[in-house]
Amino acid sequence: MENQATLAEPHIPPASQAEGGLLSVVIPVYNEAETLPACVRRLTAVLDTLPMASEIVLVNDGSRDDSLAIMRQLHEADPRIAIVDLSRNFGKEIALSAGLDFAKGDAVVVLDADLQDPPELIPELVKHWRAGYDVVYGKRVARQGETWLKKATAYAFYRVLQKLARVPLPEDTGDFRLLSRRAVNALRQLREQHRFMKGLFAWIGYPQKAVPYRRDPRYAGTTKWSYWRLWNLAIEGITSFTIAPLKVASYLGLLTACLAAAYALFVVYKTLVWGEPVAGYPSLMVAILSLGAVQLLTLGIIGEYLGRIFNESKQRPLYFVKDYVESQIGEP
Ligand code: UDP
Ligand code: MG
Repeated sequence: MENQATLAEPHIPPASQAEGGLLSVVIPVYNEAETLPACVRRLTAVLDTLPMASEIVLVNDGSRDDSLAIMRQLHEADPRIAIVDLSRNFGKEIALSAGLDFAKGDAVVVLDADLQDPPELIPELVKHWRAGYDVVYGKRVARQGETWLKKATAYAFYRVLQKLARVPLPEDTGDFRLLSRRAVNALRQLREQHRFMKGLFAWIGYPQKAVPYRRDPRYAGTTKWSYWRLWNLAIEGITSFTIAPLKVASYLGLLTACLAAAYALFVVYKTLVWGEPVAGYPSLMVAILSLGAVQLLTLGIIGEYLGRIFNESKQRPLYFVKDYVESQIGEP
C-alpha cells in the first residue's frame, strides 16, 4: 500500500531544484479574517528557517469579511506577501488555480488558510522536491475534530472514485502539497471549468511522493463544506474523471429490458393457461413506476454530463482579477 503512493522513481532534478530557488506558498482565502493572521505568522516562522527565498500568494476569493483589509496589512508588514483579489467568489478550486497562475516560485506549496494542514511540514516537502519529486503531497494519518459521518463519507468517496476512475488517486489527501515548476506549468494548461483538483494533481503524472501527517481541527471559524457541497464535489470528481455512470445507465436499461421481457412472457403464459379476469392493477403500477424511475435516473446521469459539456463549451476564462499586489522577494 505504501508503495502505491509513490507513482514513479524520482528523476535527476534540474539545478534550480537542487539548491536555492524560490518557494511560493499559495493560500486560497474565503472569509478567513479570524485565522489569516495566525496562519501567516505560523507560516512565515517556517519560511524563515528555509535556506531559500519565499513568497506567500494570498488569493482573496471574494471574501465578505475583513480578509482583504487584513491581507493588505500583512503585505505592509511583510512585502513577501502577494495579494490576488478575485472579482467575486469563484470557489476554492478556482481560487487555487488563480494562485498557481500568479505564483513565481520554482516550487509551489498549496495551503489552506485554516491551519488544518501544518506549515511546519513544508521543510520536509521541500526536501523531497530537492530529491527530484515533482508532486509531494500530504497524506492524512488522523482526522481530529471531524465527525465519523464525514470520515465515513470521505472514505467511501475515495473508494468509489478509485474503482471508477483510471487515474491513481491517492487516498486521504487534501490539496496540501508541493508542486515543482514543471508540475505547476502542466496544471496551468488544464483550463477546464469543472476542476476536481485532487484528480488533476494526479492526472498530470510525474514522480509523486506521499508524506504522512496529522490533520488538525480548524483553528477558528467554520468549514465552508456543507454535506451538500461535499456531495457536489463527489459528483464533480466522478463525472470529470470517468464515464462509468453512463455505462451503468446503459446496463441498468438492459437489465430492466430483460426483466420486462421475462415478465411479458410470464403474463402471456399465465393468460393462456389460467385466463385473465382483469385485475393486475398492482403489477401494472409497479411496472410503470419502476420503469419511470430507471428512465429518470438515466436521464439525470446523461444530464450531469451534458451540463458539463455545456459549461466547458462556453470556454470562459476561469476567473477575473480585481486587483493584484505583487510580492517583493528578498534573499533568504
Ligand atoms: N476557500 C476558498 N473559496 C471558497 C471556499 C473555501 O478560497 O469558496 C478556502 C478557505 O478559505 C480555506 C480553504 O479554501 O483556505 C479550505 O476551506 P475549508 O477549510 O472551508 O474546507 P475544508 O478544510 O473543510 O475542506
Ligand atoms: Mg479546512
